[in-house]
Amino acid sequence: MKSVSILGSTGSIGEQALEVARRHNIAVRAVAANSSVDKLEQQVREFAPKYACVYEESRYTDLKTRLADTDTTVLCGMDGLCEIAASGCAEILLNSVVGMVGLKPTLTAISAGIPIALANKETLVAGGSLVMDAAKEKNLPIYPVDSEHSAIFQCLQGNDRSQLRKIILTASGGPFFGKTKADLRDVTVEQALNHPNWSMGSKITIDSSTLMNKGLEFIEAKWLFDLTPDQIEVVVHRQSVVHSAVEYDDCSVIAQMGVPDMKIPIQYALLYPNRLECPTKPLSLTDYGMLTFEKPDLDTFDCLRTCMHAMELGGAAPAIANGANEAAVAAFLDRKISFLQIGELVAAAVEQIPNRQLDCYETVLAADSEARAFVAEQIAR
Ligand code: MG
Repeated sequence: MKSVSILGSTGSIGEQALEVARRHNIAVRAVAANSSVDKLEQQVREFAPKYACVYEESRYTDLKTRLADTDTTVLCGMDGLCEIAASGCAEILLNSVVGMVGLKPTLTAISAGIPIALANKETLVAGGSLVMDAAKEKNLPIYPVDSEHSAIFQCLQGNDRSQLRKIILTASGGPFFGKTKADLRDVTVEQALNHPNWSMGSKITIDSSTLMNKGLEFIEAKWLFDLTPDQIEVVVHRQSVVHSAVEYDDCSVIAQMGVPDMKIPIQYALLYPNRLECPTKPLSLTDYGMLTFEKPDLDTFDCLRTCMHAMELGGAAPAIANGANEAAVAAFLDRKISFLQIGELVAAAVEQIPNRQLDCYETVLAADSEARAFVAEQIAR
């Protein structure tokens, strides 16, 4: 029987991973969430994990009291996430927390030799070189959970990596596809949270509406598959059926398709290389009838352009872009800034904060903090 620890178990990815675990009798050895103690309690009662962790330390006593009659050890904070990551209590760690917070647990799991199913893209955006170097040193696999990266990973199976020419990273285009900046001036939080194809948490849904999500995925792909920027083509594909594709030297393009349902990539990451029955719908191409492909609009969606630029700059630039975006999205959700200001703040942070080399976790954290402080300062002005 396979076993998994899940960081971010009450989020959209985490709950779908639990559905996969139920279906395939995967033992759940740890659950962890930011603050939802109600859901954590339910998960502990259903799966009886060895560990449960709540990131917000003020909720620790509440969770511990609720779980006093169970055998589950209750943890909290970053130390709790890292204790789970290092514990080796499961064969694989699913990291599906939101944001830079996921980086330290990822690095901890790698140094403990635990394979990772990675849904936390900010981990690779902010600390890509650290994570990939550490994983290479330990000869540890990182299984991508992001649907596009899972697709690329699947298209690479059975082929010679050295004959890969480029990848085609598909993007749904988000809820504001076809709009201009003038159209987007008065976008509300509710409109930005209304994604046409995917049902996800609020941070990633906003990132999808600004195309920041594709920018983060661009950088994520670079690290996961060791690519140069010119080997990554972003293509808008409104139906989210082709989850991404790869092109080989012989001009063959291999794509991975399916209905837009995260359970497929989650399950592939957890059960790799097996392809077992998945609790989702089969794809009917004739129901779709037509699939469309277009170039992205980098003028309207400047977050994508900024991420591409940050990747060219290298060093701390992607971490700065990511930190600025996390702060700007939080401010937008709090209704403190407008929709278009998200892209402006991310671009300004990359432009104005001095770049530097990243050599350890602390330098990533410093770049991230500086970007957040920069955004806070700009908003306060
Ligand atoms: Mg994705």
